[in-house]
Amino acid sequence: MKVAVTGGAGYIGSHTVKLLRENGNKVLVIDNLYNGHQEAVPDDVTFIKCDIRNTENLKTIFNEFKPEAVIHFAAFIEVGESTKNPLAFYINNVSGTLSLLSAMEQTAVNRIIFSSTAAVYGNPKTVPIPETEPVKPINPYGQTKACVEKALKDISQFDNLSYVSLRYFNAAGADPSGLIGESHNPETHLIPLVLKTAKGEREQISIFGTDYPTPDGTCIRDYIHVNDLAKAHLLALEYLMSGGKSDIFNCGYGKGYSVREIIETAKKVTGRNFKVIEEERRQGDPAVLVADSSKLRKILNWNPEFDDLEFIIKTAWNWELNRRF
Ligand code: UDP
Repeated sequence: MKVAVTGGAGYIGSHTVKLLRENGNKVLVIDNLYNGHQEAVPDDVTFIKCDIRNTENLKTIFNEFKPEAVIHFAAFIEVGESTKNPLAFYINNVSGTLSLLSAMEQTAVNRIIFSSTAAVYGNPKTVPIPETEPVKPINPYGQTKACVEKALKDISQFDNLSYVSLRYFNAAGADPSGLIGESHNPETHLIPLVLKTAKGEREQISIFGTDYPTPDGTCIRDYIHVNDLAKAHLLALEYLMSGGKSDIFNCGYGKGYSVREIIETAKKVTGRNFKVIEEERRQGDPAVLVADSSKLRKILNWNPEFDDLEFIIKTAWNWELNRRF
């Protein structure tokens, strides 16, 4: 298959690109390198530096490459940052996606896999969360993703567009090869920050909020190994290519770990002790996000391989110690 991947130089994007290549697909990466790393793109993959808001450039690229589908990762992702600078999130995540969809429509590219998020659920009533749970985001990041999901639904009803929206829970870990891994600047995610603390690069790790309605008072998340998440994209692509109808799938294991449990597991895996401090809640954080992923397992036949928190943290630790970018 011929696939264009926006944000393919980013964390989840690069792991998906690697998997797509390993499965014999022809891949083109489009990334503005605002957060991505060109080193994360394999040498045999065409890379084009382009911002998704540049509709004309996208049209030229699509006319030349003629992708059968687009996998769309390019977006701003930090929940905390979205509460401080929401406009930037709307411009990049919403306008950017509309620009991409417009370029796709004008070049007859009519399949898209969209990176959505568990943040669209806000504070869900049902946990593990099924896809039928109401969409009620509590932060601008989640709002922008919910906004695009609505647009996709409307557009797909009237245009010749089919889509799969994958609602990611917490992507974590790194490819066991050690060639690629998570590298955000600034880093805001829990596992890499904990590991930087274990490494001695940071003095301490902060727990944001200890008064949540959870057994140990800290937030609970469903951490999914990035390669299992990448696999969901491959399956979604095959699904759309074989005529599957537009749909939405949760991507997580259905198991939750608290911030304290992550820190304890990281101490065990790294064999290092480090300073942990308790701080106020971070704005915009729901208490518990755990996926009901039975739909992904059933309809897309997803069988995760790395559902093991110690393994996830081990691969992230290996990357942290031997980072290439
Ligand atoms: N978190 C924390 N300390 C940190 C970074 C994150 O306690 O230094 C918490 C955060 O408040 C959330 C969880 O860890 O409850 C996961 O946060 P992350 O930013 O990794 O992912 P998110 O769930 O926001 O996508």
